[in-house]
Amino acid sequence: MEIKYELAKTLKEKPADESKLGFGHIFTDHMFIMNYDIGEGWHDARIVPYGDISLSPAAMCLHYGQEIFEGLKAYRTAEGKIQLFRPDENFKRMNVSNERMVIPKINEQDAMEALMALLNVEKDWVPYSEGASLYIRPFIIATDPYVGVRPADHYMFMIILSPSGAYYSTGLNPVKIYVESNYVRAVRGGTGFAKTAANYAISLAGQDEAHKQDYEQVLWLDGVERKYVEEVGSMNIFFVIDGEIITPALTGSVLSGITRKSAIEICRSKGYTVTERKITIQEVAEAYDAGKLDEVFGTGTAAVISPVGHLKWEDKIMEINDNKIGQISQMLYDTMTGIQWGKIPDEFGWIVEVK
Ligand code: PMP
Repeated sequence: MEIKYELAKTLKEKPADESKLGFGHIFTDHMFIMNYDIGEGWHDARIVPYGDISLSPAAMCLHYGQEIFEGLKAYRTAEGKIQLFRPDENFKRMNVSNERMVIPKINEQDAMEALMALLNVEKDWVPYSEGASLYIRPFIIATDPYVGVRPADHYMFMIILSPSGAYYSTGLNPVKIYVESNYVRAVRGGTGFAKTAANYAISLAGQDEAHKQDYEQVLWLDGVERKYVEEVGSMNIFFVIDGEIITPALTGSVLSGITRKSAIEICRSKGYTVTERKITIQEVAEAYDAGKLDEVFGTGTAAVISPVGHLKWEDKIMEINDNKIGQISQMLYDTMTGIQWGKIPDEFGWIVEVK
């Protein structure tokens, strides 16, 4: 794929204090863009200065939400290498989301080439400090100026980059999670398995309610019977019950997390049994009452592993593992971050170096 370069004339000042990066506020000097027009396919791949884009107020993505996105990170190792964790999985999932949202597929190799080219230009933006990384946000929006509901004929694919601080600046503190019994996020046949704006817009009311009650995140139940556990806001969920590691099966309403998949593969490689199946919140509560709910943790790109220390389901409060990180959660966190930051050998072949 031919990529045109229009480089910024002046570069921004990089944040001096990486401990204040936070998440998602700062963007680098450049971005990648390519366009899709019906009859022509994806074309005009280019790296240009980061900045506002011009869209018609009638652009279809603004009205009917035809869009998809991805999220991954670039890590700087102690030796100064820059590496990605399973980026091929993100571009594969992007096409799964595209298919569901009737967006033309991208060539996954081209998307990877685009990312590599952009990262090459922006290498200096990958943070240096422990736990900090460069968040990568590829996305596609429908741009036709048309106020009517149909799949668009014109799209933009973009990649933007945002340096982000260590998720855990004060240690791996367990999170407080609230089981949502009123709102639902997704149903089978819907878009739960796709990474599309609608799933996040629909989650805001539940998230807002959780925050009002001083909870950090929502645990979603299935949208039909409201009894099977699905996932957390932006994480998949795992339970360790009586030594068995259980995570909800991917039945169509749950995002197929890359951290989830990696956690399963790491656990199995170390001889643990991992079961992907339907699990009710009742079963979780009963395991808790029987003293068998050993650990609960979320998995996702942002936090990697997020231990759950406090789970509220209606009037029932479950304090898990004395509100401390469990053994399996810690092992997964150490293994995954060890591979990502090049501290331990990548025996799975998951790392792709940015050269
Ligand atoms: N579920 C949802 C709804 C998410 O947004 C995310 C974050 N991408 C995840 C799960 C975790 O997926 P991953 O491990 O690929 O980041």
